[in-house]
Formats: sequence, C-alpha cells, structure tokens
Amino acid sequence: MDTVLSTMLSDTELTRSASQAVELASRITRSIQSQIGQTQALCKDDRSPVTIADYASQAVIIHQLNQQFPDIPVVGEESARLLREASQKPVLETLLSVLRPVWPGITEQQLLEALDAGNHDASAARFWTLDPVDGTKGFLRGGHYAISLALIEQGQVQLGILGCPQLASDTASDLNREDADGVLFAAVADQGCWSRAINSGDAFQACSAGTDHPAQLRFCESVEAAHSDHDWSRQLAKTLGCDYQSIQIDSQCKYGVVARGQADAYLRLPTTVDYQEKIWDHAAGMLIAEEAGLTVSDIHGKRLDFSQGMYLSANRGIVCAEKSLHERLIDCIARHSMV
Ligand code: AMP
Ligand code: MG
Repeated sequence: MDTVLSTMLSDTELTRSASQAVELASRITRSIQSQIGQTQALCKDDRSPVTIADYASQAVIIHQLNQQFPDIPVVGEESARLLREASQKPVLETLLSVLRPVWPGITEQQLLEALDAGNHDASAARFWTLDPVDGTKGFLRGGHYAISLALIEQGQVQLGILGCPQLASDTASDLNREDADGVLFAAVADQGCWSRAINSGDAFQACSAGTDHPAQLRFCESVEAAHSDHDWSRQLAKTLGCDYQSIQIDSQCKYGVVARGQADAYLRLPTTVDYQEKIWDHAAGMLIAEEAGLTVSDIHGKRLDFSQGMYLSANRGIVCAEKSLHERLIDCIARHSMV
C-alpha cells in the first residue's frame, strides 16, 4: 500500500480504535455463529430478530469506544430493554460468559449500561453510528452479516469501518466460501478506502472499484425480497439491454463487494412506499463505496442525507455503482418507476 495513505490510516487514533473494536466484535460474533444451533433469536418490538451476537457486539464496541472517546455518543441499533425483562436472565448469563474473556470482571449492570449507551438520538454534532450485526437474518442462516461502525460529523460520514466475517479476503474466491477468513474495510472521507483480512495483522490494501462497462451486469442485492425488489432490478437490466446476474447477499457486505469490483452495482429498490432506511444500515458502507471511487445515491439520484436523525428520511432506496453505470441506472429508474 502507498506509504502516505498507510500512515494516514494507522496514525488516526479514531480509525485505529474503531477498527480494533470492529475486529474484536467480528471475532466474537463469528464464534457465536459457528455454534448457531445453540443460538436462539429473540424477537424485537418491530418483529425483527436479535441474538446474543448483536448484544455482545454492541456492548464490546461501545465499551471500547467509551473508554477512549467518552464524549462521542453512539447511535446503536440495539438497546438493553428486552434484556431487562426477568424472563431473559438466561440470555444475560450467556452474554456475560461470552464477554468475560475480552472484558474481565464484567458485571450485569455494566453490560446493560454499555448496551444502553448506544441510545443516542443522532442530534449531536458528532456521533458514532453502529449496527452491531447488520443482516441478522443472514447471520442466523449461517450466511453473510456485517459489523458496521461510522463516525458522522455535521451530517457528513467521516469514517467508516465494516467487518464482513463471512467474506473471503481473496477477491478471486467464491463469495459464499465456507472457510472465508473475513474482511475488514476502512474508509476515511477524502482519503480512501482500504481492506485486509480480519485478525490477520496484514497491511491494509487500497480498494478500488474499477471503471469497466460490463456486458453482463452483476447486481448485488438483498437476499430478503422484502428489503429490495428483485423483479424491478431484473427489469432494469432488461431495459438497459444487458445480461444480468443477481448476487444476493445479506448486510452491508454488498457495499464492500461492489467496492472490490466483485459486482457492478448495489441496488436497494424499495418494496413499499413508506420504508425509511436507517443511518446505521448505510453510513459505513456508503463511505467505503464512495472512497473506492463509486457513486452512491438514493433511487432518485439524490445523495444520502445523514443530517436527518436516525433515518435517511430524505432518501428512498439505494443505487451504488461506477459513475456512468450509476447515471444510466438512475435515468432508467426515473423512466420506469415501479413504486
Ligand atoms: P439486507 O441484509 O441488505 O437485506 O438488510 C438488512 C436490513 O434491512 C436490516 O438491518 C433492516 O434494518 C433493513 N430492513 C428491514 N425492513 C426493510 C424493508 N422493508 N426495506 C428495506 N430494508 C429493510
Ligand atoms: Mg442492519
């Protein structure tokens, strides 16, 4: 890697600490996922699943960040609310035993407080946003998931770290390789995007998406048809007159896959008129893609607006691709809108 960029990345205390925290959470969640048969999902108020991996990841990342940067609040996806119910005592016990090796002496109170320290409302001038396990449904299927941490300052994403424990660091590898070593992505606004194998001690390598105009479009999209309209993306490829391959993987790994040139676009085409994307589902991924040279916007070509609180309420859906393909996709969507 370029020495100047390498120095910039490793010298930034924020970047280094955030990477270490995400890397630790990647290791813990991967170990939990390997014993997935013993992992039961709880059901949150919005009926989405949450597991001990989500809680362990959020607690350990917030604990590390708060020790070093106590003045930067965290907007995290999870809270301790469910865990405070008496019926969840066994889950709390399991969590404590998972965390003790990396957080010696942790008490129940400290665990609950660390989780609840992620309850900031995104009103501060500078805050972290964290999705401790993005793609929990993928995680439960034994598939892709991501640990996503970003620093937002005055509505601008300044730093993005993404742990993708199920992605192989070798870009020539199958995207669903069983023995994947995992990839850590890091991006700093206006400075670039890098990746390396998780827990390898390897140097970060610069990430660049390339500018080819493929004859066969590889669209990266959600596994869950409820999260992105698969028929619409097929229709888009047809309208563009291109052969089409759908690469379906869970979580923000999709941004990383496109940033490494393993797919040509990440499409998130709304399936309902009222769904609002959450900031922690896109902040880190967007910066990684942009710093790898891609254009990221909503389906109307509008830049993602992270100044609106916890939701991307000024945006709808996501289109992420190399600039000229992005333009063609936005133009096509404008002419053939499905919702
Ligand atoms: P993915 O793995 O890309 O399908 O994204 C997982 C994320 O989808 C979760 O973190 C949810 O916040 C989000 N999600 C839940 N419901 C919807 C929906 N109707 N449309 C788009 N995203 C959704
Ligand atoms: Mg998520």
